[in-house]
Amino acid sequence: MTGRESATASEAQPRFCARCLYRSDHPLGLTIDAEGICSGCRIHEEKDRLDWSSRWGMLEALVRPYRSSGARNYDCVVPVSGAADSYFIVHLVKERLKLNPLLVTYNKYFNTELGIRNLANLRIRFDCDIVVQNVNPDAVRRVTRAALRQFGSIYWHCLAGQTVFPVQTAVRYRIPLIIWGAHQGLEQVGMFSHEHEGQMTRRYRKDHDLMGQEAASLLSTFDTLTEEDLWQYRYPDDRSLEDVGVTGIYLGNYVRWDPKAQHELMISKYDYRSARFARTFDCYDYVDCFNYMNLHDLLKLYKHGYSKVTDHASREIRHGRLRRAAALALVRRYEQQPPGHLELFCGWLGVKPHALQFLMDLHRNPRYWEQPSPGRWLFKGWSTLAGAGDGTDAAGADTAGAADAGFQATSVMDSRASPSYIVIGKGYP
Ligand SMILES: [Zn+2]
Repeated sequence: MTGRESATASEAQPRFCARCLYRSDHPLGLTIDAEGICSGCRIHEEKDRLDWSSRWGMLEALVRPYRSSGARNYDCVVPVSGAADSYFIVHLVKERLKLNPLLVTYNKYFNTELGIRNLANLRIRFDCDIVVQNVNPDAVRRVTRAALRQFGSIYWHCLAGQTVFPVQTAVRYRIPLIIWGAHQGLEQVGMFSHEHEGQMTRRYRKDHDLMGQEAASLLSTFDTLTEEDLWQYRYPDDRSLEDVGVTGIYLGNYVRWDPKAQHELMISKYDYRSARFARTFDCYDYVDCFNYMNLHDLLKLYKHGYSKVTDHASREIRHGRLRRAAALALVRRYEQQPPGHLELFCGWLGVKPHALQFLMDLHRNPRYWEQPSPGRWLFKGWSTLAGAGDGTDAAGADTAGAADAGFQATSVMDSRASPSYIVIGKGYP
């Protein structure tokens, strides 16, 4: 068989990992070895094999030259939000590495009350300076309309802003070191070994964070967009990066990364607050956004045949906290739940709900969705074909009492009678 034929064959028949719930058609790219185990699970095994205390020593040595002498400048840039791993990253940087970070955050405009609160509490608890990037909201709407139409993403501006603003800030303030949390490509699909100590690159941002779509490609596709709408999303040029010597490192290469345990520590230590979602059991991530675990997650299911709950379930299997059958049952329970807060998005973007649904349907991947009759869709994504792995069907798995898989919501995303996007959030309390 030629390479081309074998590629076509593997595309026609994606394979499941025998351990987690990922498949070989994972959008970040994933391989399955002779024993049927995926590259993500194999790299995860390093977490129990590597000597993490010596790796912490490597990190300390790595950041030492960046320590600013005489308190004349910040030691590093740390990208944060009102959710994700922000608390844990700042905790490591400030409390354990004893660095003085400049926190930076991109205002995604889909902010929840809890996200604003968590971000303000982060700044207060850690006593850090913070820079917030507010891009002109009309430009953000134009960019979002274009990205939704062209590649079925309402989140392009958030991903672009979150990944570029820290780099622009590093250049502008002449702070060469940027410290990120875990590398998604390593964590999910084992793109690199921890031992490669992969660093931030322009290429990964374009290919994976932005699904191959740089600002320039939006500009060339849509004549409705102008350079004024997009310039803030552009990566600094190589000369500016070299001039400052900008380097971005990932803490996940030096610390045994376990989001559930980390969030629970942050909840008890710094009063990070979590909230329940309709479409997954993990209450810890993305509580700052009305859309990530709702509309954005549904679009992921449309385009890729699986959604965030599969990421969460696979991660929990790898950490040994969920058995495959129970994990699959959880995926099936959550992934078809309707997304909340669509009306807020329609109001913000200025589209009618049926027009939004029409645009969304254009991005249903026919590989994972069948349309037996107009307006009716049949899901044939990953979870419909996955096996429980022990000869039983996941439908029979005992998930009684496991709906939360041990995750605890300490708050709600928004307590107001009529929630709305908090476009500019003031401090807390
Ligand atoms: Zn796997």
